[in-house]
Amino acid sequence: MSHLFPNYARDEIDLVDGSGSYVFDQNGEKYLDFMSGIAVSNLGHKNPKVMAAITQQAEKIWHSSNLYTSNLQEKVAEKLTMGKDYLAFFCNSGTEANEAAIKLARKATGRSKILSFEQSFHGRTYGALSATGQPALQAGFFPIVEGFEYLPYNQLEPLKQQLNEQVAAVMLEVIQGEGGIIPAEKEWLQAVAQLCKENGSLLIIDEIQTGMGRTGTFFAFEDYQIEPDIITIAKALANGIPVGAMLGKAALADAFGPGTHGTTFGGNNLAMNVADCVVSEINQPEFLASVAEKGSYLMRELSKLLDTSEKVLDVRGKGLMVGIKLDSPETLKQTVQELKKQNLLAIKAGKNVLRLLPPLTISQQELKDGIEIIQSVLNKNNG
Ligand SMILES: *Cc1c(COP(=O)(O)O)cnc(C)c1O
Repeated sequence: MSHLFPNYARDEIDLVDGSGSYVFDQNGEKYLDFMSGIAVSNLGHKNPKVMAAITQQAEKIWHSSNLYTSNLQEKVAEKLTMGKDYLAFFCNSGTEANEAAIKLARKATGRSKILSFEQSFHGRTYGALSATGQPALQAGFFPIVEGFEYLPYNQLEPLKQQLNEQVAAVMLEVIQGEGGIIPAEKEWLQAVAQLCKENGSLLIIDEIQTGMGRTGTFFAFEDYQIEPDIITIAKALANGIPVGAMLGKAALADAFGPGTHGTTFGGNNLAMNVADCVVSEINQPEFLASVAEKGSYLMRELSKLLDTSEKVLDVRGKGLMVGIKLDSPETLKQTVQELKKQNLLAIKAGKNVLRLLPPLTISQQELKDGIEIIQSVLNKNNG
C-alpha cells in the first residue's frame, strides 16, 4: 500500500539509475530516455561535468542565505543575462519563477490584469495556476487569484480587444509544452510584443520548458527577434538539482526593492554551482548548433510517419522538443506503453500528442535508435 497522495498517475517503473541518454529501472531494465525527466536532464544522466560541479560544492557549503552576498548567484546571473540589461532573481522551481514574474509585473506597472492563453501551462501554485489556461487544472481549487484572462493562442484580434491600461502583462510560452507542443507563429508573437510595448504592458515569456537550449537556441524566443520584459526558466537550469530563475529588465528593479519578495532556498550555493556549470555547457554556439541539427534530423525522420502511419496527424516542434499528434487519446496511451515495452521512454502532452524530449547530449546513433523504435511502433497495425 502506498503512503503517497495519489496526485500523480504513476507508471510502475522506478528509475533508480541513469547514464547519458539511458535510465535503468528497479529491475535493471534499460531504457532510452526520450523525456529527460520532463525537459530537466538536458545534459544527460551522470554528466561528468555536472557531477563534478555537485561534488565540488558539496565539499564546501550547500546553503548560506539570501541575507548574505552571493558571488555564485552573481556569476550565474551574469551568464544568464548575456550582457543585456536584465537582472536575475533565483528560486527553486518553475512555478515560483512565474509567481515572481506575476508579482513583479503587477508591482512595476501598478496594474492588475494578466493575460495568458488557452491550454497554457505555468505551474501549480495559486498565481501560476491562475495564469494557466486549463480549466481542468483549476477545477476544485476556487477561488483562484483574481485578474487573469485567457485568450486563444496564435490569434491577434482577441488580444487587441483585451489589451487596455489595466493590463500589467501578457504571459506566454513560445512553444506550449504541456498543452500539446504548439509553437507560436512568428508574426503573431512579434505583433504581441509590439502591442505590449505600445500599451505599456510587460511581456512575460515562460521559457521553463523551451529554454536552456531545448529548441536549438539558448532561449526559444531568440528566433523571434523579440525582447521580453520578463523571462522565466527552471527545469533544466541545474540538470535536476531544483532551481528556477526570473530574469527581468533592469528598469523594473525598483519594484523589487529589499523585503518585497524572497525565498529561503532560492539560489543556494549547491544549485548555483551546478547552474553555473550547466549554463556554461549549453550556451556555446557549437553545442546549440548540434541541438538544432539533431532536431532537424529528428523532425525530418519523424515527418515520414505522416505518409506511412494513419495514426499520425501532425509532427511539430523545434530542436529536441517534438510533438507527434496522434488520432486519439487511446492511441497515445497505447503508444507510450508500446514504446516502453521497446525500451524507450516518451510522454504525453495535451490530449493526444506524444512528446519527445531527449537529452540535448544524445548521440546521433542513440537518436537514430530512438527514431527507429518510434517509427516501428507507430507504423505497426496500420490501417
Ligand atoms: C514545468 C513548467 C512549469 C512549472 O514548473 P515546476 O518546476 O513544475 O513548478 C511552468 N511553465 C512551463 C512552461 C513548464 O513546462
